[in-house]
Amino acid sequence: MISLRAYDAIVIGGGPAGLPAAIELASCGAKVAMIDREDRLGGQLTKQTHMFFGSQSQRAGTRGVDIAGILAKEALEKGVEVYLGATVLGYYDDRVIAVEKDERFIKMKATAYVVATGASEKMLAFPNNDLPGVYGAGAIQTLMNVHGVMPGKRALMVGAGNIGLIISYQLVQAGVEVAAIVEAAPRIGGYWVHASKVRRLGIPVLTSHTVTQVHGTDAVERVTVARVDDSWSPVPGTERDFDVDVVGLAVGLSPLTELLWQAGCAMRFVPALGGHVPVRNENLETSVDGLFVAGDVAGVEEASSAMLEGRLAGLAAALKLGRGSVTGVMKAMEEARLELESLRAGPVGDKIRKGLEALAREAMAS
Ligand SMILES: Cc1cc2nc3c(=O)[nH]c(=O)nc-3n(C[C@H](O)[C@H](O)[C@H](O)COP(=O)(O)OP(=O)(O)OC[C@H]3O[C@@H](n4cnc5c(N)ncnc54)[C@H](O)[C@@H]3O)c2cc1C
Repeated sequence: MISLRAYDAIVIGGGPAGLPAAIELASCGAKVAMIDREDRLGGQLTKQTHMFFGSQSQRAGTRGVDIAGILAKEALEKGVEVYLGATVLGYYDDRVIAVEKDERFIKMKATAYVVATGASEKMLAFPNNDLPGVYGAGAIQTLMNVHGVMPGKRALMVGAGNIGLIISYQLVQAGVEVAAIVEAAPRIGGYWVHASKVRRLGIPVLTSHTVTQVHGTDAVERVTVARVDDSWSPVPGTERDFDVDVVGLAVGLSPLTELLWQAGCAMRFVPALGGHVPVRNENLETSVDGLFVAGDVAGVEEASSAMLEGRLAGLAAALKLGRGSVTGVMKAMEEARLELESLRAGPVGDKIRKGLEALAREAMAS
């Protein structure tokens, strides 16, 4: 018989969204568990060796990996019970979740949940995309920055958003030659600060180009790229080959929403937010009472906004649980909401603002 471990709140995912949620809940006096399938807290931050851009109050100028350390220490000091190497496999009736750790099942239950599971990398369809040497860009970052392993000798990156640009730069820092970055859009999507860095290194950025095929017997040996027309279809006769042993795909992320579907949350498809995302109110509570979301699972954005959303969701969950001083919690929630608004106010926040507006319209329509 598997015994049930009960908490006031369970935070699923210990990344930049989950950590502040757990910290706020514990600060308000709730009994909190935080579960992450990795062996270390921090989520994507653990591989981000570059200094952060984004909001000053969200630690811009500090390395992502250091932000992870600061938040993890605070969570432990506040008494959050942390389960590492533990995967939440299912969300069942009566608010029970099943967790696998060390090949054993743990049954847990909470009055409030914050789901902060992040996002997974998107794949591209082209011949031989399963050859060893074709990686998601995040996987390259994990290999280099977490395990100290070089993915190969010469790489081609697909995607010139921030992730493609940053990882191309980090590949060169690690001693890997980057033959080119190809981008299907007519313009570089990432911030100019990152684009300038790769340009200074002499890496060509081929806009309006895509990968059409990878060649090799047991691993990647060569890649073909081609120019694309306005509908992003390859233009025959424009193909060119690059001899590379690594192809990195930085073509977007999809929210990891499986647990939300299982819990019965109302979901909507909003491309600007990365795919299917949960309908939620201004406190990030979903259509399931007491189930909150924060970070990339609620719409792919950035660590700065993930931290603020985590804070807001944690405070709102504490309020729901009747923990903390009502006026203090409400004041802190208002501050987090205003900071989120100002973070999303500029041109960089345009896409997410439109995505959130579309989600609100979709939710109203049904
Ligand atoms: C290469 C790269 C560079 C970036 N640079 C910046 C930057 O400079 N500035 C910035 O603001 N943002 C940056 N970002 C974006 C930022 O990292 C993400 O937006 C942010 O990490 C999202 O936080 P999160 O907590 O929602 O998700 P994550 O960081 O992905 O954390 C989710 C956590 O949930 C865990 N998890 C998932 N499913 C389960 C499950 N079923 N059971 C248990 N645990 C689970 C995962 O193991 C993970 O630890 C970058 C992203 C990448 C990929």
